[in-house]
Amino acid sequence: MLAQKLIPTGTLGPANRGRLLQALYDIGASSRADLARITGVTRGTIGGIVQPLIDQGVLAEGDVIPPSEAGGKPGTKLWFSKEARPICAVLLLHDRVSACLVSLEGEVYGQYSAEFPNNLTQPSDAFRIISTCVEEANASGKSILGIGVAVAGMINTETGTIVAVSLAPFLDGFPLETELSRKFGVPVCVDQDARALLVGDRWFGQGRGRRNFASVYIGETLGGAIYIDGHLYRGPAGAGGEIGHTTVDMKGRMCRCGRRGCWETIASSKWLAKEAKARRLPQPHFLDVSRLVTLANHDVPGARELLRDYAFNISVGLANLQQFMAPNFIVIHGDIVRGGNPMLDLIRESFRDLIFHRPDDEIALDFGGSDCLAALRGAASLLLSELLNFVI
Ligand SMILES: [Zn+2]
Repeated sequence: MLAQKLIPTGTLGPANRGRLLQALYDIGASSRADLARITGVTRGTIGGIVQPLIDQGVLAEGDVIPPSEAGGKPGTKLWFSKEARPICAVLLLHDRVSACLVSLEGEVYGQYSAEFPNNLTQPSDAFRIISTCVEEANASGKSILGIGVAVAGMINTETGTIVAVSLAPFLDGFPLETELSRKFGVPVCVDQDARALLVGDRWFGQGRGRRNFASVYIGETLGGAIYIDGHLYRGPAGAGGEIGHTTVDMKGRMCRCGRRGCWETIASSKWLAKEAKARRLPQPHFLDVSRLVTLANHDVPGARELLRDYAFNISVGLANLQQFMAPNFIVIHGDIVRGGNPMLDLIRESFRDLIFHRPDDEIALDFGGSDCLAALRGAASLLLSELLNFVI
């Protein structure tokens, strides 16, 4: 039988600090009195937690609020300091790497990207390019809190090692967390890109203040992560989240993972381009979902049917996720977002037909961001969660 470990008293302080900062992210700039009311402790306890954070330059006093609103005493609203050290965020894909700085308010700046050359075979060469990106993103040489890395691949989150990145075998087994930490001398956190997106949504996006939701990325590839009852779900050593490789068609097309009929084979931009060609739509190689919506609006033959089929294929996997785990709210990121409301409405329509509804259920889908900013913000959020000792 597994016994649950008790919480050592030494970690209660950091845990409370993490909870307080999370409350601040969820409700915005707040007075000490508001924070005391929301977190169920006294104003004195709040004062004891926030004062060191003000002294360290993490939080700053903002607008003055009158005594009537501040619980009988004059007060100020607390928020993250503009002077606080930023986090360096890195997004590592099979063919390129992007980095930027992210402020504690989620503001992204200093973005820098580099591509891996086609003939790359050595992990040390890849690491040199990744390190250059970090240095260029922080060209002014600011002191940073740490580095958060989102990787489009499988990660061992216990060791911060890359297990595998499809199409980039030179990264397999690379101890990225250890190497970055050794080179830059700061804490580093590495995880899968879909989980980074989810944590970014939790801190800075549509997942703010929610206890249950999922984030799904739909572009050239497909991935997802789930937040259940206030916790990010990670399988052992960071396994799982391979929703793009769940089988939806047993006699379907071969997937890049070597299996047949994965959801990704019918719900990615690659499927869209192939289908556009097979269905003889104009300029299929340049077809993305945004252009497909335009073609459908102009009644180009076949466009409306392809748009509906794509929306249906996407809704199949989203519905499987909802039926099994009931996140009840799914944020969709990636190229698909460029289809705007016409695409979102079609996905919602098919999705509704495929799921069970219980009385009083509120089940919703929404689009997040189409670019890599959400993933970069997510990478920063991974590190932020670890630094603030906030259990995700
Ligand atoms: Zn697959």
